[in-house]
Amino acid sequence: MKSVWLKRKREKALLRRHPWVFSGAIDKREQGIQNGDIVSVQDAGGNLLGYGYCNPASHITIRMLSFGEAKVTPDHLRGLIREAVKRRSGNPLLETTDAYRVIFSEGDGFPGLIVDTYDGHLVMQCLTLGIDRMKNDIMELLIDELRPKSIFEKSDHEGRRMEGLEPTQGQRYGVTHDETRIQENGLAYFVRIHTGQKTGFYLDQRDNRTLIGRIAGGRSVLNLFSYTGGFTVAAARGGARSVISVDSSADSLDLAERNMALNRIETPAEYIRNDVFQFLRENPLEDDLIILDPPALAKERGAVDNACRGYKDLNLQVASKCPRDTLLLSCSCSRFIDMDLFQMVVFSAFADAKRDASIIGKYHQPCDHPTSIFCRETEYLKSLLIHVR
Ligand code: SAH
Repeated sequence: MKSVWLKRKREKALLRRHPWVFSGAIDKREQGIQNGDIVSVQDAGGNLLGYGYCNPASHITIRMLSFGEAKVTPDHLRGLIREAVKRRSGNPLLETTDAYRVIFSEGDGFPGLIVDTYDGHLVMQCLTLGIDRMKNDIMELLIDELRPKSIFEKSDHEGRRMEGLEPTQGQRYGVTHDETRIQENGLAYFVRIHTGQKTGFYLDQRDNRTLIGRIAGGRSVLNLFSYTGGFTVAAARGGARSVISVDSSADSLDLAERNMALNRIETPAEYIRNDVFQFLRENPLEDDLIILDPPALAKERGAVDNACRGYKDLNLQVASKCPRDTLLLSCSCSRFIDMDLFQMVVFSAFADAKRDASIIGKYHQPCDHPTSIFCRETEYLKSLLIHVR
């Protein structure tokens, strides 16, 4: 195995178990390292810090899979999977759902790997070259440890290009039908694994769905960026008077409608295919529970300023037009925008709208998307529950 040496005083982050080595921290690399190889990482004095996979094509050149002496063997990877399973097993918060994230990348000490389970069908995403190269070993371990019904690879996101990889997807084990049914806290949802977004469903909004279910009673609900109606169904079951879902994707809205029917919910519902920015500009707002959950507007650090303008625009439209005593759940899933910055953006929207409001709840992602105590970047979902006066 080849080695990489860090510059002097650049070992601190790794000693604190932060798993990333940026290109600027590297002093020298042994000749002949291939992109995606496992390397040993040493400080300037030659002390071993741990092992990770290396991709010089990426800004984050090395992602660590172990710290200290432990080599990256199949047994080590098995250990990471077992730890992830243990982190979730017996957690009452996950007992009432058959769909959750089994492995959350850096949050589970397994940078670059996402595995979700939908009623025993695993959906795997390989985000990096290092993981892509070992995916056959990983799948064998997943089969051995989790005995899944099937494994579908959904490595279709554009971010792979930064790693020098093409997006790809396909059946890797058993049979995964495009459409699967899941149960979550007494609600059922159809999930489209092959053709849906991400791995099929926004598992990370589970706790917020519960929250919306608890506060929706008697309110008329506007679910912006609704996707397949996760919040729509939760709000309706929670006793909403009416629910409007807005999304640009016709397929997603179809599934939202079918998800309502699946739960035999007869709450008056409307499904509007439109660009949300346009919808907000063109329509008065009469609903008093609004969910605003846009896609990640900042997909990279350089896009943060533009993304903040987008979040501000959306929140400003709502702040300017919503009725008195509206509850707004405003979300951002951009990893590069932290809670403080997001709150600042929402604050400036309300300041511009000259609208009084209070934050009555602040939320992050649920327990199956653990935040690594060593890697703040794993805390990506931020939600503010705002009472608008
Ligand atoms: N709230 C959803 C997840 C939202 S994901 C849930 O909990 O399941 C973002 C959604 O926004 C996707 O469904 C995508 O189709 C939609 N979308 C992206 N850009 C949009 C735009 N400009 N206008 C309307 N919908 C948009």
